[in-house]
Amino acid sequence: MSACLFCRIAAHEVPAQIIAEMPDVLAFKDVNPQAPTHVLIIPKRHLGGMPDLTDEHAGLLAQVMRLANQLAQAAGIATSGFRLVVNSGPDAGQSVAHVHWHLLGGRRMAWPPG
Ligand code: 5GP
Ligand code: ZN
Repeated sequence: MSACLFCRIAAHEVPAQIIAEMPDVLAFKDVNPQAPTHVLIIPKRHLGGMPDLTDEHAGLLAQVMRLANQLAQAAGIATSGFRLVVNSGPDAGQSVAHVHWHLLGGRRMAWPPG
């Protein structure tokens, strides 16, 4: 059994509100939402963080972008606006060492981020 929380969610060993998937990526609701829409998009296979992404992940990355657009459309925030955020490494506050994209929307957001 993997020790990685998001690998365990991808394997359905840990429950999550899964809302969509593509062949290589999975989307589920963040357990501690920071906006009316807060979804996490993860690769099904373990990748620790941004530095692990290479040219061989081009197809996976395309799925992340396509799924983010589909989810934003379904949530009704495609036009009003949304953020797609990766926290990579300690300075950015990455707390789960399995790369993930936060899709956030449904409220006005500040810039710069904290
Ligand atoms: P990070 O801080 O690494 O960028 O984001 C990790 C995210 O994972 C946080 O927004 C946190 O709320 C979410 N998270 C942590 N544990 C769980 C869990 O068990 N289930 C779900 N659905 N989200 C989680
Ligand atoms: Zn993992």
